Amino acid sequence: MTGECSADRSMWERGSSLSLGIMTDLLTPKIADITAAGVSLSGDLTAEELGLDDTDAALRGTAAVGLDLRAVDRTICVTGVVEGTAIRQCVRCLKDFDEPMAFSLCVVYEREVKSTGLIGKRDGAQKKISATPPVVEEEEQNDDLYYFTGDHLDLAPMLREQVILASPMHPLCVPDCLGLCARCGHDLNEGPCRCGDVPVGGPFDVLRTMKEKLRDAGRR
Ligand SMILES: [Zn+2]
Ligand SMILES: [Zn+2]
Repeated sequence: MTGECSADRSMWERGSSLSLGIMTDLLTPKIADITAAGVSLSGDLTAEELGLDDTDAALRGTAAVGLDLRAVDRTICVTGVVEGTAIRQCVRCLKDFDEPMAFSLCVVYEREVKSTGLIGKRDGAQKKISATPPVVEEEEQNDDLYYFTGDHLDLAPMLREQVILASPMHPLCVPDCLGLCARCGHDLNEGPCRCGDVPVGGPFDVLRTMKEKLRDAGRR
């Protein structure tokens, strides 16, 4: 029995170090490795590894990411699927709930063109301008176009953005969530509150109703 356990453990240790290596490649593949025939990458990534913070999207556990990268002319086409479970907050009742998340993506990476040569011709200001990414003209604007520099792709910012884009604008725990009472904040999914009994009015109306209720109760 003991022998089996230690064998399992060594296998597990080997497995984890292996997946760590894959993980690094998954998020920062070498551009030289991406051929016209394409390469496939897959792995499980946490929200943290995807660069997601609490305000972006929360994940239950890890998301399974499978990507195909292909060199096309001077660009790199990335297609793939992301699957996992997102933790969303219902816009009506403010409760957190788990929601299956699955989406495909198709983006293009282009090498970022250094524009310092052109800017250098203008007086003085080149230092400030070269530090910021080149301004994309209106007609070139494409949500699925990303840029790379150096000899590795950095996929995490793109994956983060795709996860955010795939998130619903108004998440609902159930399609007909009743939400919270605007007056007392009671979760109406758990049953009606007393506010329906109270006529619309100021706090004195509420007090009067309470008084009447107490008087009625006293009479019984
Ligand atoms: Zn809800
Ligand atoms: Zn209420």
